[in-house]
Amino acid sequence: MKFRFPIVIIDEDFRSENSSGLGIRVLAKAIEEEGLEVLGVTSYGDLTSFAQQQSRASAFILSIDDEEIVEEKPEAIEQLRNFVAEIRYRNEEIPIFLHGETRTSRHIPNDVLRELHGFIHMNEDTPEFVARLIIREAKAYLDSLPPPFFKALTHYAADGSYSWHCPGHSGGVAFLKSPVGQMFHQFFGENMLRADVCNAVDELGQLLDHTGPVAASERNAARIYNCDHLYFVTNGTSTSNKIVWNSTVAPGDIVVVDRNCHKSVLHSIILTGAIPVFLMPTRNHFGIIGPIPKSEFAWENIQKKIERNPFATDKKAKPRVLTITQSTYDGVLYNVEEIKEMLDGKIDTLHFDEAWLPHATFHDFYGDYHAIGADRPRCKESMVFSTQSTHKLLAGLSQASQILVQDAVNNTLDRDVFNEAYLMHTSTSPQYSIIASCDVAAAMMEAPGGTALVEESLKEALDFRRAMRKVDEEWGADWWFKVWGPNDLSEDGLEERDAWMLKANERWHGFGNLAEGFNMLDPIKATIITPGLDVEGDFSDAFGIPAAIVTKYLAEHGVIVEKTGLYSFFIMFTIGITKGRWNTMVAALQQFKDDYDKNQPLWKVLPEFVQKQPRYERVGLRDLCKQIHEVYKANDVARLTTEMYLSDMVPAMKPTDAYAKMAHRKIERVAIDDLEGRVTAVLLTPYPPGIPLLIPGERFNKVIVNYLKFAREFNEKFPGFETDNHGLVKQVVDGKSFYYVDCVLQES
Ligand SMILES: *Cc1c(COP(=O)(O)O)cnc(C)c1O
Repeated sequence: MKFRFPIVIIDEDFRSENSSGLGIRVLAKAIEEEGLEVLGVTSYGDLTSFAQQQSRASAFILSIDDEEIVEEKPEAIEQLRNFVAEIRYRNEEIPIFLHGETRTSRHIPNDVLRELHGFIHMNEDTPEFVARLIIREAKAYLDSLPPPFFKALTHYAADGSYSWHCPGHSGGVAFLKSPVGQMFHQFFGENMLRADVCNAVDELGQLLDHTGPVAASERNAARIYNCDHLYFVTNGTSTSNKIVWNSTVAPGDIVVVDRNCHKSVLHSIILTGAIPVFLMPTRNHFGIIGPIPKSEFAWENIQKKIERNPFATDKKAKPRVLTITQSTYDGVLYNVEEIKEMLDGKIDTLHFDEAWLPHATFHDFYGDYHAIGADRPRCKESMVFSTQSTHKLLAGLSQASQILVQDAVNNTLDRDVFNEAYLMHTSTSPQYSIIASCDVAAAMMEAPGGTALVEESLKEALDFRRAMRKVDEEWGADWWFKVWGPNDLSEDGLEERDAWMLKANERWHGFGNLAEGFNMLDPIKATIITPGLDVEGDFSDAFGIPAAIVTKYLAEHGVIVEKTGLYSFFIMFTIGITKGRWNTMVAALQQFKDDYDKNQPLWKVLPEFVQKQPRYERVGLRDLCKQIHEVYKANDVARLTTEMYLSDMVPAMKPTDAYAKMAHRKIERVAIDDLEGRVTAVLLTPYPPGIPLLIPGERFNKVIVNYLKFAREFNEKFPGFETDNHGLVKQVVDGKSFYYVDCVLQES
């Protein structure tokens, strides 16, 4: 496999017609004749951005401006030192050579010398000899880069052997036999298809039983993430969660679960036949889900919940697992050491669903506010698990996920037993590109590069917040969007963790009396608040801008956001973020403001939407916002949704039993108006916010039914802005929509 990594030469004489220019060009030519590319530049330019070249280069050759260096140009030494430091901040390994004519290392300070791979004196050896020396180092460096599985896969794909095993496209050849197949082949390229192999290939090892290069890669990632065991998963954290649960939970077991959990955790409850008791998070009226208060984690409180649960027959049984959403959608984090302290030995497995948090372990900023990392103490008895979506915030392909385990002092993972659960959920034909991306995503985070990447995301996220604030200040009394987060911050304080702690009774979060030091906000998740609703749930009399309209507008301007709420939407600063991207967001929001203030007609500002929904053609942007805002206000929707999520859910059946009724068709479709008191057989999940509201076996209460009635009315009034409810069945009769939920058949 050939990769393109030029050798970068920085020499101010690179293009000059003097002897030093001639010398360096002779060296460049000698390198090129050995088959390597050379990139020659004459200055460092912008130091930081130039140092970014480290990710594309195989070596640097830095010329020191010989004669003048020490006596007349101390700033040249300073610049050299800064440049080397910038490179080493991200990359400890890339070879750096100094190139001079007469001066020697004696003139270079030690802290710079220490970072060098060599000092080249052009006149002492032939250019060919020097070129080979540099190339040898550059090649050794490149060879050291790929982690085990990726390395084996690139070798295999390049090796050109004929395969008789599946997949049936035979390294892409099948595609070439059809025109549309040709298109597919040209689009994805030969390598992707050559690397799509099956697990019959011995030299790549096996994901299913963790052997060969796959196992070496998992060990490598475990070292990088500072955990005792690490498993790559190729079907998302949805599957990682089910694996963790199936490895430790059996029918009838009691489990303790964050009510704000991903649906895969609820699927795990159904799948394992567990009896859940739920920890209830706070919510504010923006619709933002806050932390579970610390008191909910108190063992006495959990015991009380078990006591009250009608299905828990053995009230003294030890819960098998605790699952917490560690980093909520909006970025709220828990102090894991405090949770470990409270529940070590009380619950067998402490499982943190860190789908959004794989980056935290690489930066001190996050301290104890993530599950597993360097120097973190072990529990005495409880195992700690973390499941992470590598694809959400790091550089994994979609579905790339991993399971991290920290053993307890008196309890270590039985890998063979665990693997039974792993096999239950893993395809026997895993996608090798996803495995390779798990492998590479981990290798990318190796220190110091990983820390630098996370620091960059944090910096960009803070710069974005500052930019939004600056716009706000400039608009003065006029309206602008707010970024949710602490507001009494000095500019510099932003880099300190303390600034991001959720302190008791602060108005910005609206989560009430939180325990000190228990929660922080991850700045790289930015929830943007649109005007019209305050944190108490009061709708503004003056005006309001529902978020769904803003995000539709943004989408038509090429900006796609992650999640939309009532008066908020969120974006995140992954390690793939660039200044261009967030500046485009700020600019697009400015455009929105402009079009809103001018009340531009929708045919002009949302042409794609209007094509699908011509009824809005002549409606003004501001008028539409006003119409929807008034309906929200009239229905007091912010309080309605908060209440519905906080209302006491009464379980009438175990989730798995209710689900079984569905499998056996012992269900009926019940219209919204008749739902109160009925037991749902399905998961009901409103979007926004995409958090399951009702779980199979729970009863509909009045608040939830009222919400569904509102949603029905709203959807009729504003087609194109429908609030979506997964679990609701829609049937259209004579152009009118009717909604139903599949409920457990009532015994008569
Ligand atoms: C996205 C998500 C998951 C599922 O992860 P996938 O990789 O998409 O399968 C699990 N838990 C939480 C909290 C999530 O946000």
